[in-house]
Amino acid sequence: QAKDQGRGCFAYFSEDLTIAARERIELEARLRRAIQQQELCVYYQPQVDIASGLIVGAEALVRWIDPNEGLIPPARFIPIAEETSLIEEIGEWVLRETCNQGQYWLVTGLPPITLAVNISPYQLKRCDINALAATVLAESGFPAQLLELEITESGIMENQDNVMELLDSLRSQGIRLAIDDFGTGYSSLAYLKSFPLNVLKIDKRFIDDIPYSKDGMEIAATIIAMGHTLGLKVLAEGVETPEQLAFLRERHCDTYQGYIKSRPLPAKEFANLMHSQLDDMVNKRHPLSSYQ
Ligand code: C2E
Ligand code: MG
Ligand code: MG
Ligand code: MG
Repeated sequence: QAKDQGRGCFAYFSEDLTIAARERIELEARLRRAIQQQELCVYYQPQVDIASGLIVGAEALVRWIDPNEGLIPPARFIPIAEETSLIEEIGEWVLRETCNQGQYWLVTGLPPITLAVNISPYQLKRCDINALAATVLAESGFPAQLLELEITESGIMENQDNVMELLDSLRSQGIRLAIDDFGTGYSSLAYLKSFPLNVLKIDKRFIDDIPYSKDGMEIAATIIAMGHTLGLKVLAEGVETPEQLAFLRERHCDTYQGYIKSRPLPAKEFANLMHSQLDDMVNKRHPLSSYQ
């Protein structure tokens, strides 16, 4: 009887795995279809200058709007895309869409802001991102100086052979480079010092510590100070409370993203937010006043 039960458990377990595997394969097929049927879109989250309170940039974040399921977050499909060649297609599409949008905003009179696009380590590995960026910038007309590419520590660590050369050529096109989710990987600032980076993005987990953990706050403050020592601009990710913002201002962090300002927005809503910032400036209403 024990044997039967054991077999029963095994059968149950393996069936479970099969279901998970089947779901993955199904999701991959649906994602492939979603790309063809243009169900992907890009949301934009403001990047705010801490000293002035003004929006100076935005991060482009991909979304999948499924006609039945609604909005599917990137955490559910980027990892699957990364296991296949789909990440190259998605990455290329997001880059092109963002540059076209940015150029449209420029010609329709929005002030120039930096647009940041996430680049997966797999994209760095598998496709010629330097040639792709050159093509997309030329086709869209978007200025290279306003494009920022976000790479992660693992993007650098896993591509050690040619990553320096690659980053150098992106920089010589005028493209800015940010290190994303800093503090979650195994690299040190001392190691990153040798790469031609412009921006260091402190991962949300350190911001979450403010004001609850003294150690966590010291780490955040130290990352800001060391980033500055290395000549980098420092951005804090995932700022949600006035206390966090006050701490970051006090420690001279340069910019932030977070729900306290805005969630990622569809392009139209982001443009509306930019227009209301322009109106506020014309009416001399100080953008910091909303936090006081
Ligand atoms: P990330 O690049 O670190 O992006 C920041 C994430 O933090 C976004 O999640 C954003 O919505 C979220 N966030 C921002 N402020 C707050 C806050 O105040 N509180 C909280 N709880 N969250 C906040 P999202 O859009 O779900 O993206 C998750 C991750 O998916 C990104 O992390 C990035 O690694 C990946 N991703 C998104 N779009 C792309 C893309 O186009 N290409 C690639 N390769 N990866 C992407
Ligand atoms: Mg990012
Ligand atoms: Mg990040
Ligand atoms: Mg993150």
